[in-house]
Amino acid sequence: MINGSTKVYGLIGDPVEHSLSPLMQNKAFEACGLNCCYVPFRVDAVGLPAAIAAVRALNLGGVNVTIPYKERVVEYLDEVDRSAALIGAVNTIVNREGRLAGHNTDGAGWLASLREGGFEPGGQRVVLLGAGGAARAVSFVMVQAGISSLAIFDLVGSKAGKLAADLVPVAGCPVAAGDMASSSLPVAMAEADLLVNASPVGMFPNHDAPPPVDPRQLGEDALVYDLVYNPSRTKLISEAEARGCRVLGGSGMLVCQGALAFELWTGYKAPVEVMHQALEEALWLQRPV
Ligand code: NAP
Repeated sequence: MINGSTKVYGLIGDPVEHSLSPLMQNKAFEACGLNCCYVPFRVDAVGLPAAIAAVRALNLGGVNVTIPYKERVVEYLDEVDRSAALIGAVNTIVNREGRLAGHNTDGAGWLASLREGGFEPGGQRVVLLGAGGAARAVSFVMVQAGISSLAIFDLVGSKAGKLAADLVPVAGCPVAAGDMASSSLPVAMAEADLLVNASPVGMFPNHDAPPPVDPRQLGEDALVYDLVYNPSRTKLISEAEARGCRVLGGSGMLVCQGALAFELWTGYKAPVEVMHQALEEALWLQRPV
């Protein structure tokens, strides 16, 4: 029930129509009995500064930021926390009486979901596929969580190299980089404890494309974490399971990053189970047939 006291939150990006955050956040507000709502705002590139000014002018409680503005939005904020500054991207803005604070809950959300899945990254050897926004977020938290080595591979080797160079000052472990055709990829996979797919390969509507790597190159004890959440069961996940590996899909990260945003905005503990269920139901309805 929306009334004169309803606190409004939202999502700024382009496109936003596909987003499951409105469903997840509104279910969470409802479950906690909070007089809040969450709406998507499709914003074009020219409109971004005005959209951020509107967060202040309309006294919104805060917003999430998605593709393509996670990096660009930083210059319009009053402050950013350490994690967002390191990653160089913001996915959550909190409006504190007109001062806009930027946070990045993607990395912390990924780490929380990994630990919920029973995997502690400390001391583990990791292979990361992709070097875009999501890869940046997860790689900064994994090196800070004490992994023992990281090898990053992207279609474009220089992009992986740039991410590796950015990580070196904060990483307490070796960080290697290469392209997907590199002979060091199968070697790194054979030694890996954790393979993380942060490339869009396998994502709807290209869910029938071959996986980015052949999971048969992994050891059977490895865990495969696919950040892709739609579909919830990607080809990489199916083939890794057939190999005997443990697997985690991207919906856990989506829920955990949303839960952390919810907690930053409201100060309430997020109803993670409610959010998870809302997301799983929506993904099931959208599943490719
Ligand atoms: P992005 O910024 O576009 O980065 C994707 C990166 O992967 C780019 O560097 C791209 O290279 C590279 N790439 C493309 N095809 C590849 C391949 N075959 N092998 C290796 N690298 C390849 O996208 P993003 O925001 O990081 O998102 C990546 C994926 O993570 C998407 O599927 C997204 O839905 C998912 N994601 C999930 C969550 C979650 O909560 N579960 C959160 C964020 C993102 P080019 O630039 O050369 O194309």
